[in-house]
Amino acid sequence: MGKLYLVPTPIGNLDDMSFRAVQVLKDVDFVLAEDTRNSGKLLKHFGISTPMFSHHQHNEHKSVAGAIQKIQEGNDLALISDAGTPGISDPGFLLVRNCIEQDIEVECLPGPSAFLPALLLSGLPCDKFHFEGFLPHKKGRQTRIKELAEKECTLILYESPYRIVKLLEQVNEFMGSRRNMSISRELTKVYEETIRGTAQELLEIFKEKNIKGEFVVVIEGKSW
Ligand code: SAM
Repeated sequence: MGKLYLVPTPIGNLDDMSFRAVQVLKDVDFVLAEDTRNSGKLLKHFGISTPMFSHHQHNEHKSVAGAIQKIQEGNDLALISDAGTPGISDPGFLLVRNCIEQDIEVECLPGPSAFLPALLLSGLPCDKFHFEGFLPHKKGRQTRIKELAEKECTLILYESPYRIVKLLEQVNEFMGSRRNMSISRELTKVYEETIRGTAQELLEIFKEKNIKGEFVVVIEGKSW
């Protein structure tokens, strides 16, 4: 029986790839990747020539069965995502659960993920936090924001550049304009930036400028 490795990859800066991540990706028999073209560039950069298979949210159920079979046949597999840690707002959970059910050993390497640096950079309490990931785009979005508004710990969300202004409007409406917030964009990349302020201040900034990139939104918990 083989083994499953969960291998985090950089969220921007390639120097964040760990020595162990490179070694595991070289040693395993197959790499399961969200986007084999995208990950192909990463593997090439580190001189890794391990064969790849695709494992993304649209084929996840089907590829889990194939992956389990390969491991049961004695192959070691490594799961990577496009960026950061697999399973964190990316495919991974289903495969891990199936491996556990089949008594397959799973090892997770620690490594890059966008939410932890954003939490630390926010300056908001990081002793207790809630990681939400992406909110639903339409149905259930407002209800979920109202639920999050009641939580007393720091909140962490992922958001796309297309919905960031909408999210800020909703935070102002349902959580209050005085909530302290922080938005980190392009973490570990050339244009990395963290913008801090109240919900009202951040809405004004983001409405005025067409700020692009990948964002992590951190919101102060309810304190009144
Ligand atoms: N698995 C990844 C992780 O461990 O962070 C998250 C993947 S999720 C599909 C992509 C989202 O993560 C982006 O929309 C953004 O919210 C956040 N993200 C990823 N890289 C980022 C970066 N360099 N700076 C800021 N946010 C980032």
